[in-house]
Amino acid sequence: MSNNEKRLMTCIVCPLGCELEVEIDENGNVVAVTGNTCPKGKDYAIQEVTAPKRVVMSVVYVKGSIFPTVSVKTNKPVLKSKIFDVMKEISNITLEAPVEIGQIIIKNVAGTDADIVTTRPAPKK
Ligand code: SF4
Repeated sequence: MSNNEKRLMTCIVCPLGCELEVEIDENGNVVAVTGNTCPKGKDYAIQEVTAPKRVVMSVVYVKGSIFPTVSVKTNKPVLKSKIFDVMKEISNITLEAPVEIGQIIIKNVAGTDADIVTTRPAPKK
């Protein structure tokens, strides 16, 4: 009998949200993916098992604005194992108003190759 693990996950690549069943062998390798409507689902399942990534969202303090903080996010998904380092770098930042939407406030955050960008403006007081 096979000792392969079966894991259920929802593909988040497109709004269809296919329910995937992923078979993983004892070495952590993906040996089969079912339930995907297109090949992107298989790629997503393999990435999710071997090196899962997420977009990180947070807020940053702003001095001299009508808002005390501004929301920010990574401009692409980063390895889940790097999220703590990303949050730490974000927590060290304080911005000065005015802040534009889409402003890059950290380049290559925590060596992930992703940038931190603002998702809202913060006008001056
Ligand atoms: S498997 Fe393909 S069709 Fe299904 S949610 Fe993923 S990207 Fe969309």
